[in-house]
Formats: sequence, structure tokens, C-alpha cells
Amino acid sequence: MILTRREFSRLAGLAAASPFVPAAHAQTGQRPIGWCVVGLGRISMDHFMPGVKMSKSGRIVALVSGHRDKAEKQAAMYGVSSNAIYKYENMDAISDNREIDAVYIALPNSMHAEYALRSLKAGKHVLCEKPMATSVADAKAMIDTSKTANRKLMIAYRCQFDPLHKKAIEMIRSGQLGQIQAIESAFGFNIVAGEWRLDRQLAGGGPLMDVGIYCLNATRYLTGEEPREIKAYSSVLDHDGRFDTVEENVSWTMKFPSGIVAACNTTYGGNMSGYFRVHGSKGSIEMLPAFNYDGMHLTGQVGRDQKIDELSPDREPIEFTRQADHFAECIWYDRTPKTPGEEGVRDTALISQIYQAAGLPGL
Ligand code: NAD
Repeated sequence: MILTRREFSRLAGLAAASPFVPAAHAQTGQRPIGWCVVGLGRISMDHFMPGVKMSKSGRIVALVSGHRDKAEKQAAMYGVSSNAIYKYENMDAISDNREIDAVYIALPNSMHAEYALRSLKAGKHVLCEKPMATSVADAKAMIDTSKTANRKLMIAYRCQFDPLHKKAIEMIRSGQLGQIQAIESAFGFNIVAGEWRLDRQLAGGGPLMDVGIYCLNATRYLTGEEPREIKAYSSVLDHDGRFDTVEENVSWTMKFPSGIVAACNTTYGGNMSGYFRVHGSKGSIEMLPAFNYDGMHLTGQVGRDQKIDELSPDREPIEFTRQADHFAECIWYDRTPKTPGEEGVRDTALISQIYQAAGLPGL
């Protein structure tokens, strides 16, 4: 039976642990990667862990959490032994757990650097959620430590593993759309009060750090260029206490060396479906939604006759599985990840420049 992504996520959530764990990956003969998950929140429990469970390249072998009850429940679902549940305080003891090859970090943004450094120093490879860090210095320290420890560091830019995003890149690179003239992108949502995302100490910034980063990263992988000039505005329109320490809106433009200009918006004040639109001399494409977990839709027109209308397949593997499989291959075959720490540090530095261009403190 082939499950849709939604069916899989639901079943993965309900599934009891399978007692059978293959000793070797069927196609490669490699030992499956043992994952330690740090932070049991929405992204790790609802998406990453089901994605790994769907994968043949790895399995969940350890958890780090401040909530023992929650960790015990997750451990039972994934077959993690109870002595492989760590607290934040004693997670450095993962260095003694030889089942753990890689650590997935899904904590509030400002905690990424500390836990990445501790994991790397414990001798483990690290897959860190976006945004990589809340300062350029922290992001660079993560890269330096991964080099010193001789361990891989990858940032979880899941869209770069999505077939429809890859198709959009290919259409641009192959010249099908002609000379790209302009790109638009936006992503935002109406945030509920009380989230750590509204606390600068934990989030490092507002929607730009959280969801605007998808637009920023997309404009870079769509153009294949690094922006040279940046202009930006920020605003707070809802004076209801949510935006006392982070911005509500950021709008920015970036000019790339070829002359392409990207115009982007992000907000925590209203629902802004994540999308990008690319305008070329021979055609244009739009992906809407572009940054969801599934259901991506690419449309467009090339020349007078060629219509583009493609939905991302509603079948496994999901982006989280593709991402975990990619990292496993990097570890097995000593390859550089497609989205290494250097990719994260570039976005961190650009976010800092966007904030400064908007008159806010940089990172
Ligand atoms: P969440 O609030 O659901 O989970 C955060 C986890 O961190 C919880 O387990 C919480 O207990 C733990 N935590 C530890 N110390 C904490 C503290 N001081 N304050 C608050 N929580 C603390 O958040 P989330 O949505 O899972 O996001 C986690 C990370 O994943 C963020 O960096 C976010 O940007 C990223 N993320 C990535 C994607 C993606 O698609 N790649 C999607 C959502 C979130």
C-alpha cells in the first residue's frame, strides 16, 4: 500500500515502535544513521521523526528533552531505549553513546549554536534547523567547530530537496524562461501571542528569521547568485503587545549581479501564503504554495503555447525523508552536504544586512 504524506504523518504518529531494525541499508549495505533529536516540539515530532521513520537510511536512537514524560512517549513510538533519553543538562554524555551518529537540532533559534557546538564536540554530525543562528559570529563558530571536530554540519533547508523546487531551478538554469528580470516572494502568518518566536532573546528577530528566510533562500537558489545591494523597510502595525521585541513586517529588495531584482515580504501580522514568482524574457513561473510541507503547485507559461501546471506528488518520500537520506549519504561517503553551514552563514549575514537596511539592529 502506498500512503499519501498526510496518511503517513497520521500513522507515524500513532504507530508503535517496530521491533525490526535492519542492520544495513538494503541498497548501499551501509549501517543506518542513528539520530539523536534535540528538542521535542512541532517540527521534530510532527515532521522530522516521521520523516526518518519513513526513511531506510536512518532511525531515531536517542532524544534530548526537558520533559521526561513527553520524551518517554516519543521513545516508545520510535523504539528508543529509556537510557538514551537525555536532559539538556547532561546531553554531552551522548559522546559515550556509539549508536548516535548524527544530532538533529530543533530548538528555539538562539539555542541552535550552543547545542550544535556541544553535539559536534561530542563527536556527532549535526543537522541544524533554520535559521542557523541568531548572530553571524555564532554561525561562523558552528562552521569552525565542525571543521575542528571533522564532523558534518548541514542546515535543514528542506525546500532545496523538493522535486518541484528543483524543477523551477532547472527551468531557470536551462534558459527556458529566457533572461530572468525580476522575482517576487512572500511568506508570513498571523502569530499567536505567547510564542517564543516573539521573544528576541530566543528568536533573534521576527518573521524574517522564521519564514522570510524561505523567500531569501529561494531567491538565492533560483538566481544562483548572491545579492549585492539591499534596501528594506520594517513596520509594526499591531500595537497589541506581540511586537514589543521583534518586528511585525519586513519588506526588502535585493539586486543581484546580473541585474535581477527580487522583492520580498514577510509578516507575523497576517496570513501570507508562501510563494515565489519568476519573470523571464521568454516566460514566467509561479509556485504557490511554495514553502508548505506538501501540496506545492508550480504554474506558468513559456512562450505562447507551453503551459506549466504541476503539483508536487502527494506520495512519499516527503522533504524531511529526502533531507535525512541526503545527510546519511554525506556521512557514509564523506560528501559535503548540499546545504552546508556556509549556506546558513550566508543567509544569516544577509538577514543582518536586511535588518540594518531597515534601520533595525543587525545580527
Ligand atoms: P516548538 O516551540 O514547537 O518546539 C521547540 C522545542 O524547544 C520544544 O520542544 C521546547 O520544549 C524546546 N525548548 C527548549 N528550551 C526552550 C525554551 N527556553 N523556550 C521554548 N522552547 C524551548 O518550535 P518549532 O516550531 O518546532 O521550531 C523549532 C525550530 O525549528 C526553530 O528553529 C524553527 O525555525 C525551526 N522550524 C523549521 C521548520 C522547517 O520546515 N524546516 C518548520 C518549523 C520550525
